[in-house]
Amino acid sequence: MKVLTTAKEANDEVFRLRSKEKSVGFVPTLGALHEGHCALFRRSSEENDVTVASIYVNAQQFDSASDAEAYPRDFERDKKLAAESGVEVIFRPDDSEMYPSGNTTQVISNSPVTRCYEGAIRPNFFNGVTTVVSKLLNAVPADRVYFGQKDLQQYIVVRRMVKDLHFQQEIVPVPVIRDENGVAYSSRNQRLDAAGWKTAREVHKLMQEIKESASDLSRQELFRRYVPRFKKADFDLQYLDVVRFPNYDPAWPADRDAVLILAGYAGAVRLKDNLPLHVTDVAELE
Ligand code: AMP
Repeated sequence: MKVLTTAKEANDEVFRLRSKEKSVGFVPTLGALHEGHCALFRRSSEENDVTVASIYVNAQQFDSASDAEAYPRDFERDKKLAAESGVEVIFRPDDSEMYPSGNTTQVISNSPVTRCYEGAIRPNFFNGVTTVVSKLLNAVPADRVYFGQKDLQQYIVVRRMVKDLHFQQEIVPVPVIRDENGVAYSSRNQRLDAAGWKTAREVHKLMQEIKESASDLSRQELFRRYVPRFKKADFDLQYLDVVRFPNYDPAWPADRDAVLILAGYAGAVRLKDNLPLHVTDVAELE
């Protein structure tokens, strides 16, 4: 495993590989790797000769410096998991490499998708994402870059930014990876207690039930029937909605491009999830 810490080293390495006709896949992460990340690595390894992962906790996309500081870090464990899933190069910059002092440049998206749901709850989040992803895409000029549909709004905003700013990487959305109970893998899951896991499993069951009845469900019925049931499962909803992919306008559950989205708290742990109601992969809607 090659571990590179500067943008220049990462850039040189990717150009060197590409000059040898090797295709390069790239998976940006915050670390604290789990099966969801590993699925992205494996998909990249299947589709490219070499896979590069980045591990960088970008404080700009957290609500506070202390939240970023508290993010779990275990590089040796991450390195092992990444290697087992086909990663050959890790780009692991530190804060002074990513944000040299005096760095005043931000990449800001005006997409309406940055202002709703996750963007409404966390006002700096998408500016942090678009800025760091631009830096990472310049550092790692791969052929393909893999993003999880777990963070569906993020994927939509990044995909548009890539088009607007003429980044040449192809952006590949990977469907949400779930455990045997349907719970979406997330770095936060390690903080769930037994009651939290029960809620997380119940949330998935309710999402699945909504998907199964989507063709006959009005928006009103969805909220009337299901908001109390999420509450009964001890899930403290921040939002529950059905939106159209990719513009996030309100949808009817029966619409082919409808995606169920939700976020909320199971105890102290924030869960965020989504489920396309009529396809398995939003790529089918593009
Ligand atoms: P993070 O380290 O949380 O920034 O995640 C890095 C990438 O992995 C993002 O593109 C996420 O959307 C993706 N990801 C995280 N968890 C999952 C999951 N359960 N299924 C699919 N993609 C995921």
